[in-house]
Parts: sequence; structure tokens; C-alpha cells
Amino acid sequence: MSTTPVRPAVRDDLALMEGYHSPQVQVEVRLNTNESPVGPPAEFRAELAEAIAGIDWHRYPDRGAGELRAAIADHHGVRADQVFAANGSNEVLQSLCLAYGGPGRTAVVFEPTYALHSHIARVTGTTVVEGERTEDFALDPDEAERVVAAASPAIVFLCSPNNPTGVVEPEETVRRMLDQLAPTGALLVVDEAYGQFAAWSALELVDDDTNLVVTRTYSKTWAMAAARLGYLVGPAWLVEALESVVLPYHLDAVTQLAGTLALRHAAAMETRVAELVEERGRVSAALDELPVTVWPSGANFILFRPDHLDGAEVWSRLVEHSVLVRNCASWPRLDGCLRLTIGTRDEDDRFLTALTEILT
Ligand SMILES: *Cc1c(COP(=O)(O)O)cnc(C)c1O
Repeated sequence: MSTTPVRPAVRDDLALMEGYHSPQVQVEVRLNTNESPVGPPAEFRAELAEAIAGIDWHRYPDRGAGELRAAIADHHGVRADQVFAANGSNEVLQSLCLAYGGPGRTAVVFEPTYALHSHIARVTGTTVVEGERTEDFALDPDEAERVVAAASPAIVFLCSPNNPTGVVEPEETVRRMLDQLAPTGALLVVDEAYGQFAAWSALELVDDDTNLVVTRTYSKTWAMAAARLGYLVGPAWLVEALESVVLPYHLDAVTQLAGTLALRHAAAMETRVAELVEERGRVSAALDELPVTVWPSGANFILFRPDHLDGAEVWSRLVEHSVLVRNCASWPRLDGCLRLTIGTRDEDDRFLTALTEILT
């Protein structure tokens, strides 16, 4: 007797969900994923190559990533038991949702913001409530308070500087949110993937008595997107809870070494960040001369919207000039917008020349 095989069905709540897409088109100038335009220093590469040669390949790596966490803790002036590291800050966010979200629990996000916050929450079965930002993409603290009070969330996500808008959340807003959440037991996650580009960091508010974690990544400011390494700084009890949801030995030996050694070159990172901030000012001033609306950014990218042409069309024409930016034109609340990652001066000039030709 033969029966037609039935394919396993994915979970009902995942069936309609789209994956995360960031088209990787073959172009000469890639300014679409907020990476650093240059790599880490040559000395770092040499140190890492030497360290890799000494790995005990037949042994599992240090499960608790002790040296890495100690180095990160040292970098931020906190204790190692306040640091949790994982494969990209996305795995950090996923671990947070697995431990503190899940079925029957809610996470609040304020749109438009980093798509992965709601995506990862949903994948872990967490209900997502979307609050709105104002016209200029700022968070209105009264509205945020209202949304959070109505949703009774387990987790609230903020992103500062916010991707894709570049808005930096004022300290006052973060403090007020923490005050509201304290009696409810909800967790505030501040995603600071671009934290070093901003003048203020929520890291200074982290302690063992505050329901706050700040996530960071090596992917942007550390120029190490290839390494897939991110971490959070938060209360020790939270780090301990995350150890129970993360897979054993999830951080491989190479990643741990790369993350530890990179921190020796913090000065080079700070120089790169300062150069990108200066270049952001130059590009932003050039955009001001063109028929586009530009939003002020505290990160290594700029959101803009062509005033007279359709954003999607401008995106395609930039690709024809071999320049790739992020097409946000069809994203909810970002009608017609494009996001430019700040590159090298040459790359940015290629972009500006192409855009000028397209728009004028
Ligand atoms: C790029 C980015 C990340 C980085 O994620 P990784 O998994 O560490 O590469 C996290 N949050 C935001 C807001 C980002 O833009």
C-alpha cells in the first residue's frame, strides 16, 4: 500500500512569516548593510592568525568564553559576570527572547526600527506590540508610556542610535522607561549596535538592580561583521539565566579569540569611528544641496528620501551606477526612503555623483 507522503508543516505562526532579506547585488560600491568600509588593523590579523595556530582543535572551546567576557568587561569597566557573548548580537537578542519572551508573553517595539527585534521575537513565539514614533522618527515619551502600560510587556526594545533612522534616544527617555518598567518586572533592551557613534550610552545605567541590558556588536564599529560576534552588558542574574537557553559551546574558539584580540585595538576602532562621523557630516551636507529630505543621524548611515522621484526607482538607478544602498522605500512608515551606509570618501563620492546625476 502506498500513501502520498505528507510534508511536515512548519508552525502555524511561522507559516506566513517572511525571512530577513538584505539583497546582495553584485556592485562596485556596497553601501547597504552598515558595515565598516575598512577592515580591522593588520596587527590584529597577525595576532589572530598566530593565536589560531595554537588552538586545541580536538577540544571543545571554553564554554563560558571566560577570557572574552573578561576582556569585554574590562573594556567597559564592568564585571565579567555582567557580560553575555553570542554569535552576533542577533543571537543575543534571540537568547533574550527565549529566556524572557515566548508564548503568552509580549515584546514592545517602536516602529520604524530594526526589523530583527520583532522578527526574532515572533520566531520565539513572543507576541509583538508595535508602538509608533512621531513624524520625525523620535520617540514621544508619553506615547511610549501609554503603549507600554497597555501592552504589559515582558520585554521592551529600544534601538539607539535607531536603525534605519539614525535617531539617538535621549537619556531622559531611557530613564523614564526604566522607572515605568521597574515595578512590573519587564526587561528593557537597548540595542546599541551603533553605540560608539553616539554621544551618550545606556551602558552607564546598567547594574544588578536594574532591568536593563545594552547589546553591542563587533559587526559595525569593530569592522568585524565576518566574525559574527555580539554581546550584552546586563545584571549578573540575567546573564546566568541566558546560559540556560543558549546551546552548549555555541561560541567557537576562533570567534572567542577574535573578539578578545580585537579589544587590544580599541584606539584604531575609535579612530575609524571618528573618521566616519566626520565623513557622515560631509555626505550629509552634500545631500542637503540635493532635492532630498535628510534625517539627522547619530550612526554610520543616513536615511534620506528623494523629494520628486520614487525611492525604488532611484535605488534601481543607483544600482545601474554600480552603487548599492538599502532600499527602504516599501517599508511601512518609510515610504520612498533609502538608507546610505557611510563608506570611504571615494565610495561616498561615487554615490553622490551618481545620485546628483539621477536627481538633477
Ligand atoms: C547591524 C545591527 C545589529 C548587528 O547584528 P549582528 O548579529 O551583531 O551582526 C544589531 N542591531 C542593529 C540595530 C543593527 O543595525
